[in-house]
Amino acid sequence: ETRNEATPCQTFKKELSQPAVFIPVDRLPEIQEARLKLPILAEEQVVMEAVRENPCTVLCGETGSGKTTQVPQFLYEAGYASGDGIIGITEPRRVAAVSMSQRVAKEMNLSSRVVSYQIRYEGNVSNETKIKFMTDGVLLKEIQKDFLLQKYSVIIIDEAHERSVYTDILIGLLSRIVPLRNKKGHPMKLLVMSATLRIEDFTENRKLFPVPPPVIKVESRQFPVTVHFNKRTPMEDYAGEVFRKTCKIHRMLPPGGILVFLTGQAEVHSVCWRLRKAFPFRPNCTETGKEDQDTSEDRRSFKKTKQKKTVSLPRIDLDNYSALPVDEGDEDRQAGIGDEEEGSDLDLELGDEPGVSEEKSDPSLPLYVLPLYSLLPPEQQAKVFRPPPAGTRLCVVATNVAETSLTIPGIKYVVDCGRVKKRFYDRVTGVSSFKVDWTSQASANQRAGRAGRTEPGHCYRLYSSAVFGDFKEFSEAEITRRPVDDLVLQMKDLNIEKVVNFPFPTPPSSEALVSAENLLLSLGALEEPPPSGRLKDMERARLSCPITSLGRVMASFPVAPRYAKILALGNQQDCLPYVITLVAAMTVREIFQELDRPAGSEEENSRLAQRRARQAQMKRLWAGQGASLQLGDLMVMLGAVGASEFAGCTPKFCEENGLRYKAMIEIRRLRGQLTTTVNAVCPKAGLFLDNKMAPPTESQVRCLRQIVLAGLGDHLARRVQAEDLLDPKWRNGYKTPLLDDPVFIHPSSPLFKILPEFVVYQEVMETSKMYMRGVSAVEQDWIPQLLPQYCHFGKPLETPAPYLCPETGRVKCHRDSTFFRVGWQLPAVEM
Ligand code: ADP
Ligand code: MG
Repeated sequence: ETRNEATPCQTFKKELSQPAVFIPVDRLPEIQEARLKLPILAEEQVVMEAVRENPCTVLCGETGSGKTTQVPQFLYEAGYASGDGIIGITEPRRVAAVSMSQRVAKEMNLSSRVVSYQIRYEGNVSNETKIKFMTDGVLLKEIQKDFLLQKYSVIIIDEAHERSVYTDILIGLLSRIVPLRNKKGHPMKLLVMSATLRIEDFTENRKLFPVPPPVIKVESRQFPVTVHFNKRTPMEDYAGEVFRKTCKIHRMLPPGGILVFLTGQAEVHSVCWRLRKAFPFRPNCTETGKEDQDTSEDRRSFKKTKQKKTVSLPRIDLDNYSALPVDEGDEDRQAGIGDEEEGSDLDLELGDEPGVSEEKSDPSLPLYVLPLYSLLPPEQQAKVFRPPPAGTRLCVVATNVAETSLTIPGIKYVVDCGRVKKRFYDRVTGVSSFKVDWTSQASANQRAGRAGRTEPGHCYRLYSSAVFGDFKEFSEAEITRRPVDDLVLQMKDLNIEKVVNFPFPTPPSSEALVSAENLLLSLGALEEPPPSGRLKDMERARLSCPITSLGRVMASFPVAPRYAKILALGNQQDCLPYVITLVAAMTVREIFQELDRPAGSEEENSRLAQRRARQAQMKRLWAGQGASLQLGDLMVMLGAVGASEFAGCTPKFCEENGLRYKAMIEIRRLRGQLTTTVNAVCPKAGLFLDNKMAPPTESQVRCLRQIVLAGLGDHLARRVQAEDLLDPKWRNGYKTPLLDDPVFIHPSSPLFKILPEFVVYQEVMETSKMYMRGVSAVEQDWIPQLLPQYCHFGKPLETPAPYLCPETGRVKCHRDSTFFRVGWQLPAVEM
């Protein structure tokens, strides 16, 4: 077995056919010793030759084989950062970008000024930086500034198997940028690093790489992992099951670290707290002790998750340009798993230890419990890499960030809840949310593999083998699961007009692309193609429209295009601070506490009724009177945010008035960020974040209603007319262009009693009925003026061909006209 006797780079570099530069690195002896054990070291020569001889190379290997930490060092030593370019590495997750830059700096004995990172909100890049770790969104943003990425001599796309949307798009873009750089005589290299799964999406895709890139496989040692399935599958309290199983392992099994997989931050804290309570560990050293004992946050989370077992979070669009805000991802990795068996000797069934309660504190068995998730501060994250204090067992409670991005040393046992928190997108409304769902088989195998890095291990799956059999084989690429209007806008901003021809590793459906182009056209973000006689030509032309200057402004806002349009129109009558607040509130969603749930006891019921009454009273107050009432639900949001900010946005204020504290904090952060972006786009706006905003005046409210109409134009609804009322299901109903069935104003809306003839809405949610959310009233006269793209002006509705408006020379296409679909007729309007 010569594999692990890696050739020290110094020796082989002399043997290279072409003499290469060699930049010495002064590593500490213990670092050098650890490096030489990594499987990738044996492949250094192969990797470097492939990179030298090919513009693009694919490298795949097991997690922990040393790809992320070592390959940047190989490139550095070979001189890729000593000319006029530096080495760039992208990660889909912030946590990986930060911790990997720190690790590589440490291994190379260089400062963070030389080996640096850049993530969305922070970074330590300097003019000395040679190796730069960043999130994929950061590099995408840099491409928007300099398409040829001139400051890099090599780009490494790491964790490509995660198939994050930005990683996919970056690979597509770089497949074109690299040949362009070569043609210009300023060559750049691309290295795609991935786990060993499904690399065919990259290598066999001729549209992406006309010449297939060489694939280098790093073999690594994986010890057998015995997989134990549960007989039963807990559906509800799986976090409790995770806790109990971890207690059993700790009590009964030989030494070795435990790695626990859960789905989200709150669960992680809750389980940490229970484990620390069960197996207290009191360090007498001061170094790590203080933070380790600080369990207050864990306790808070425990209380919270105890009440609410399934986690479902609203999506925050803060991260359009950065790593994902919560731990999630597509897990396409296969681990070298040993024999799977049910009911082996070590299989622990619950209740096999009578008389011992796990909740009872047992200080004789100290457990060193550490949380690990994306948003944990880096210094806390770094602890998982250090050996646990003497006499304790390490137990890391993690989200799926520990699945592929980070390798934790010394893990022998894995406890897998089998679930993952995922984004779900609604194809009709484009709305998304986070839900807990089963993971995929590939992902579960990857989790199990974490137990076999240093010696044979065990994986406890808290679900039955039948449930495992029903898991999807792989998770799908994110890009196929969501609407793409924001991506299409970003691409158009990069002057990629024919998005259909873009070399996506996995293309989104053409249906998704067409509806994205149509939405962007109607928002005015794209240029309408010149009129042409044939509908077919028109359709084709509509798929390659260039971006407008409005579109460029919209592309600079990190929110969905409809809301970006609202922001872009917001600089009128001093409305911008209100517009920013509205967009932030609409993006965060669910700002009110859900108080409609049936409660248990009488006492609880009356308490809930009181809180509901208080919430309703506040909603009425925030909705205002007269003109502001017409802004409807959006006025309520504006009033709620205004009031809570005025009161200092305290948990107490939110609790008393039926607001979700977390949502209010998110809105505050997003308002800050949007204010900064607006100031950058429009310096003369000179905005600042005002937490003592006065309510908008009557004319400002009117202006806000028009701005909202212009952005939400495709979400216009009209109250049903007399002829439809023959069918009782249409009573008080509204017609929309997207749906055949009526939609309704929710009884909690201030517009419920008013039933305006025309409204716009944020989204339609189906509960007991199809309800519109975020409803605002609009005046009929405004529609043809603000949304001419949806109107016919005095022509009969039957006209099948696109209609050229003689006044403006613009084409009106009937087929997707709102008014055509719902049969509205508007008076002809002077343009
Ligand atoms: P890969 O990218 O192939 O998954 P890595 O380069 O991330 O592999 O990891 C290689 C080795 O370096 C692993 O054994 C891992 O445990 C170790 N390692 C990574 N980061 C740290 C760190 N911050 N501290 C100590 N060891 C680390
Ligand atoms: Mg890695």
